[in-house]
Amino acid sequence: MKITNIKSTILDYPLPVPLKPSWAPGRTFKTTSCLLVEITTDEGVTGIGAGPDSGRAGIYTIADLVAPYILGKDVFGIEQISPILRVAAKDGSYPWSVEMALWDIIGKVTNQPVYRLWGAFQDTLPAYASLAEVVPVEEQIERLYQLKEMGFRAVKLRLRRPDINEDIRVVQQIRAEFGDSLQLMVDANQAHVMPCPEPVGAWTFHDALKVANAMQELDILWLEEPLPRYGLDQIARLTAATNIPIAGGELHKGLHEYKQIIDMNCYDIIQADAAFSEGIFQLRKVAAMAELSYKPFIPHTWSNGIGMGANLHLAASLPNCPWFEFPIDPPAWTNESRDFMLNEPFQIKKDGTITVSDKPGLGLEINEDAVQKYTTLTWQSDKLYIGSNNEF
Ligand SMILES: [Mg+2]
Repeated sequence: MKITNIKSTILDYPLPVPLKPSWAPGRTFKTTSCLLVEITTDEGVTGIGAGPDSGRAGIYTIADLVAPYILGKDVFGIEQISPILRVAAKDGSYPWSVEMALWDIIGKVTNQPVYRLWGAFQDTLPAYASLAEVVPVEEQIERLYQLKEMGFRAVKLRLRRPDINEDIRVVQQIRAEFGDSLQLMVDANQAHVMPCPEPVGAWTFHDALKVANAMQELDILWLEEPLPRYGLDQIARLTAATNIPIAGGELHKGLHEYKQIIDMNCYDIIQADAAFSEGIFQLRKVAAMAELSYKPFIPHTWSNGIGMGANLHLAASLPNCPWFEFPIDPPAWTNESRDFMLNEPFQIKKDGTITVSDKPGLGLEINEDAVQKYTTLTWQSDKLYIGSNNEF
């Protein structure tokens, strides 16, 4: 079965209220964007994938760096196509949505959900609510009560206040409020920020050590990204010096970087993402490296509903994935904000778990009306640019 057409579309959806994520200090997002990729075969089967917002660089990557080299190739030849995607990732933006779409096709053709093709370890996982914003403690507590009401039993808080002592005090207050009725993780987001107007100094080793020890006292499940991404020696030193699990790895690129961070024992928990880091199937190799080092692999999923859905198949296929990251932080980041391009937004169940779709492929259905409404630019391999024509 051959790849005959590739379409990539930038979607831009207005958020119900603006979002101020901790990973872009000083920025306010009024919309959320993603790059939808649709691949069609000579037998008329279509698969979908989606990458994070990378603007026109996303379209350029698919149109100029990927499509010319994979059109006509065998859909099942993932290991032949992956090296092409790696080159595109190096010279362009994130091309991993292509691999998602190919597995969606393979699942549809074989009439199996993707996670079942890879070992089907579990179909239901505990979900944790992954917040985005740093807000005053009173408001944070109010939001946590809402999330508990929805069924969440675990929540990941963001730390990125100007003073680490303030971060520690807020987590102390939240633990005092909820006791052991809520499991907590914390994400310091010190490894990476998006371009932003505010100065973004990262924690020092001793800042990170102080926070890690305080979080251990508070029985926090893990501390995520406490140090800059490529300070590998310092990260490994911190992980060795603390007893709280240190998590990270969401935006590393390439299998070789994961081998290095696993070999160096940089993190206790590995968090690669099928939308940002490598292809969804290639990440099974990273998960296997983690498994052989007795480390959990818990994918990062903060992109969009399709990226999250692809990561859910990966997570469900693995023996070493004890949690699933569920990005949600109302009022700005709701199930609809994340999944506006899908007919059925993901929901967790009342017991705080999430179940992977048992439909063939990724099991996701595109909301065609939403796609039409929120398209800002489309490129298709058998046509010219559509939408903002010739502006590209
Ligand atoms: Mg993170």
